[in-house]
Amino acid sequence: MTCIVCKKGTTSPGKVTVTIDKGAIVAVIRGVPAQVCSTCGEEYVDIDTMKDIEKIVLSAQNAGLNIAVQNFKAA
Ligand SMILES: [Zn+2]
Repeated sequence: MTCIVCKKGTTSPGKVTVTIDKGAIVAVIRGVPAQVCSTCGEEYVDIDTMKDIEKIVLSAQNAGLNIAVQNFKAA
């Protein structure tokens, strides 16, 4: 797809690192599948992937962690 940020680049599939700061926990999720703009580097993570990230963050939070670094795993 065409990047909606720079409107010049096109996106291609890649892996990105997503950082989530929920106050009680800061989570860094690595290896998240995303579309990445070849021009400006903007990252597009789809809704289903974000839901999976939410679950990973929630389970880390439930485990009592304040900081979590995890590899992405689809639910
Ligand atoms: Zn772009």
